[in-house]
Amino acid sequence: MTLLRFDWDSLHKELEGCTKCRLCEKRTNIVVADGDPHAEIMFIGEGPGREEDEQGVPFVGAAGRLFNYLLEEAGLKRENIYICNIVKCRPPQNRDPFPDEAEACLPYLRAQIALVRPKVIVCLGRIAARYVYDKDIQISRDRGRIKKAGIFYIIPTYHPAALLRREEYTNDFVYDLNTARKLVEKLNGNEDIVI
Ligand code: URA
Ligand code: SF4
Repeated sequence: MTLLRFDWDSLHKELEGCTKCRLCEKRTNIVVADGDPHAEIMFIGEGPGREEDEQGVPFVGAAGRLFNYLLEEAGLKRENIYICNIVKCRPPQNRDPFPDEAEACLPYLRAQIALVRPKVIVCLGRIAARYVYDKDIQISRDRGRIKKAGIFYIIPTYHPAALLRREEYTNDFVYDLNTARKLVEKLNGNEDIVI
């Protein structure tokens, strides 16, 4: 992938009709992102589901609706954050993306991170966290642990779809979103960050 010029136009041009992995074969729409391209907090999910594939927008299904609601619980708004996924095309039957598919798609995510330049990146679930935070991540053990990587702070947490199955994860999830919001507030106030 070239992506030599990091601007939104070249990113969208590269993505248009992308056939760099087998997920192109069954997709309806490429799902690039939603939200504010200048956001201070960026959320990364796994990959589009059925409704996302139909609409071309991330997190619009059941997990997305719960996510929107819990964002507000944590004092955040969907329109003020940026949200995207590890893979931009829907894996069949919502299976996990294969490593070669994730690797094929990661340059797009790296370009998105470079263009948005968020202060804090929140990884939603194991798949996002293993590619962005730590390949040996265990969400139940590591969720909420802030890590500094270059100019970014990264926080892993549960995937909102996991909360649909395990309601008891909800408090921890909202806690982690609060951690992200407070971290941005501290960074904006030039307060010391103790990890
Ligand atoms: N799950 C994800 O990981 N991403 C979406 O966009 C929707 C559901
Ligand atoms: Fe291209 Fe990513 Fe879609 Fe694969 S998942 S075809 S790399 S946009």
